[in-house]
Amino acid sequence: RHMKVRLDYRVTGLLNPLSIPNKLLTGPGPSNQHPEVSTALSAPLLGHLHPEFTKIMDDVKDGIRYFFQTNNDWSFAISGTGHCAMEAACMNLLEPGETVLVCRNGIWGDRFAELSRRLSLKPVLLSQPPGSVFTPEQLESALQQHRPSVVFVVHGESSTGTLQPLEHLGGVCRKHGALLLVDSVAAAGGAPLLTDDWLIDCVYTGSQKCLGCTPGLGLISFSEAARRKILSRKVPPPSFYLDASQLANYWGCRTTEPPDQPVSARRYHHTAPISLVYAAREALRLVAVEGLPAAWERHERAADKLRAGLQGRLGQRLFVSEPQDRAPTVTTIAVPEGVDWKAVVQHAMAKHSVEIAGGLGPTAGQVWRIGLMGLNATEAVAERVLAALEDSLKAVGVATP
Ligand code: PMP
Repeated sequence: RHMKVRLDYRVTGLLNPLSIPNKLLTGPGPSNQHPEVSTALSAPLLGHLHPEFTKIMDDVKDGIRYFFQTNNDWSFAISGTGHCAMEAACMNLLEPGETVLVCRNGIWGDRFAELSRRLSLKPVLLSQPPGSVFTPEQLESALQQHRPSVVFVVHGESSTGTLQPLEHLGGVCRKHGALLLVDSVAAAGGAPLLTDDWLIDCVYTGSQKCLGCTPGLGLISFSEAARRKILSRKVPPPSFYLDASQLANYWGCRTTEPPDQPVSARRYHHTAPISLVYAAREALRLVAVEGLPAAWERHERAADKLRAGLQGRLGQRLFVSEPQDRAPTVTTIAVPEGVDWKAVVQHAMAKHSVEIAGGLGPTAGQVWRIGLMGLNATEAVAERVLAALEDSLKAVGVATP
């Protein structure tokens, strides 16, 4: 039988081949990806349980352990972006009705509180003004007051440009029987992060920032204490797709107690985004080849160059007032009084193909955000962004010294 195909759907634009401009992605993410990542994406597909693919998954697990500096058995990738890893962490670590203390100094604390409410949890906010960070003493008094089972804190607050010192938070959480959950989407790979030494119970990041990989994967790791809490839940997490024990099995991790039992065979859980896993493997390989200390130092040097140029040559004020609280990954600049921030952003993109982002959440309309992450964390890229911003400020009539 002849089927009737309707011809009135508009496909005119679609008939042209894909064409993408080349932009310097120096906003808060995604960053430009490594050429090796692009090559990996076009490798032939494998099946999600083929031995060649599960070997690549094992490499990715090793790479995640190195990236987060942890021995955690439960270290794997989530098939989704940073938000997906955030939801997975939240719904696996906590059961309905439990209290989570949310350290909020930018949009990401608000976002975590929002999604934990949707999961029938009890978020309690500990707030600091945007642009500042938390002290262990502030955390300790909130822990004493609210007795949460989990504490959520953001490492690199990409909406404000702060870097949260984490070294002493884990000990405080442990003392009060809470697990420490860290969002390092905008910091891991670009700023020191020692998951085991700092007693972090769960940490996650996205693939598209300091890793220089394609967006679409969340990297996550759970401590032994976190794993035990998850395996002894009264009710399973509300999402099958994001159930950490199911994912752990698919990623070849141990899901049974006691720990000397053999690891169960991998079962199909969902079809992994095969090419993205190749891409993450290559990006993690590049981090291992460079070495984390060198990568952290490179991010710091690029940020130093950028901050010096912004404050000196361009006469701008940084939004984060305390130099030690500034993230090396995302730099925020206070928009001067009366300046059209959007016109600057548009000029930088139109004339220079350079991305400078506006604010987000509490900083909307108040800051510009520049990210030097992954392969963009170089002094040469910092110089390109400074030149583009200088020209864009001139174009909107802002006098630079
Ligand atoms: N947390 C932080 C600190 C982020 O910067 C971002 C991304 N801007 C996210 C979470 C969410 O990640 P995604 O956009 O990949 O879902």
